[in-house]
Amino acid sequence: MKCKLCEAIKNEKPIFMFEDYIIVSTKNMKGHHKRIMIISKGHQKDLTPIENQHVMSVFTLFCQNYFDEEPTFALVDSTYASIPDHWHRIACDWFGTPEEIKQLHYTPHQAIKTKKEWKP
Ligand SMILES: [Zn+2]
Repeated sequence: MKCKLCEAIKNEKPIFMFEDYIIVSTKNMKGHHKRIMIISKGHQKDLTPIENQHVMSVFTLFCQNYFDEEPTFALVDSTYASIPDHWHRIACDWFGTPEEIKQLHYTPHQAIKTKKEWKP
């Protein structure tokens, strides 16, 4: 069976690439304005803890600038990942459909501040 993420690496237009990682928009936006994922170019289930920490810090910095519509974005845990055999992480804004926002609240995630100036 073909791996959907290996296919995405070949076919999707990258938003950003660095080292052995690629950032693309997800196929299913689930109502979000922006919903992206970072994928390892190699088909691998896990990264080493050091790789993981490095990649997630770069991805977080990228997202803090990319998500510019709201004060925070969600960095989603892989607990309920639909493709567990290929390392990836999802980040999205809070504009999702009601079902998606409900699902998001049940999924472990971090709300991370964007670089947006917060004007009350
Ligand atoms: Zn794969």
